[in-house]
Amino acid sequence: MAIKIEKLKEEKKRGILKFMLKGSNEVFANSIRRLIIEEVPTLAIEDIEIKENSSALFDEMLALRIGLIPIKTDLKSYTSKEKCKCEGVGCAQCELKITLKTNKKGYVYASEAESADPKCTFVYEKMPIVKLLPKQKLDLTMTAVLNNGREHTKWTPGWAFYKKEPVITINKVKNPELIAQKSTDNVFTLKNKKLELNEDRIYDSNLLEYYAELDGGISLEYTDNILFTLESWGQLSCKEILHKSSEIFLEKIEEMEKLI
Ligand SMILES: [Zn+2]
Repeated sequence: MAIKIEKLKEEKKRGILKFMLKGSNEVFANSIRRLIIEEVPTLAIEDIEIKENSSALFDEMLALRIGLIPIKTDLKSYTSKEKCKCEGVGCAQCELKITLKTNKKGYVYASEAESADPKCTFVYEKMPIVKLLPKQKLDLTMTAVLNNGREHTKWTPGWAFYKKEPVITINKVKNPELIAQKSTDNVFTLKNKKLELNEDRIYDSNLLEYYAELDGGISLEYTDNILFTLESWGQLSCKEILHKSSEIFLEKIEEMEKLI
């Protein structure tokens, strides 16, 4: 059976994509999940030259914070230092410079940093970096590089998880009121003293096993389809993450083929 992907929900602004994987299995879903978390590359700050930091945060703490700020990543323009033509020396293809200079009292936000590449800036403008008191200053030159989550978690593009597709059926329920009352996620509601199932809530529910335990009249089964959820941290869109993970998958298979 050929693999099929059915899109269930996409929230582009929040960077969430949910889809159903049909004709596949958990081994394949897990390979994609691990490729996303460990291998899909993004840009993150790796080096910081601190010319001045009179804020309350130590240099090390400030650097750690900045390293975790997501940067919009253009995979077509950047390459990792290992694969770059400059052989790791550092050039415009493998390094991105971002500067931050301010002495303004109050919170310093990610939007105040200036990137040498307008396509690749900090993703969340309102992300606070540090708070400055009067006469405190910050003057930083940061270098972002392309790398992956296996090297450090700051390069992970998002979070991915999956579960098997649940199917709920209502048979003879002893106490419909109790089930409706316990159903805080609105999977079940009461209508004319009868229990009603809200199909569109099932996939998001974490209480299905609890309902089945609570009343023998509710049966829970799983199909072979896989519900896959992907949440992007913002560096790449969900689609870009999936494309890149499949590309890496193919590269690995081709590499293996050559070795056989
Ligand atoms: Zn280079």
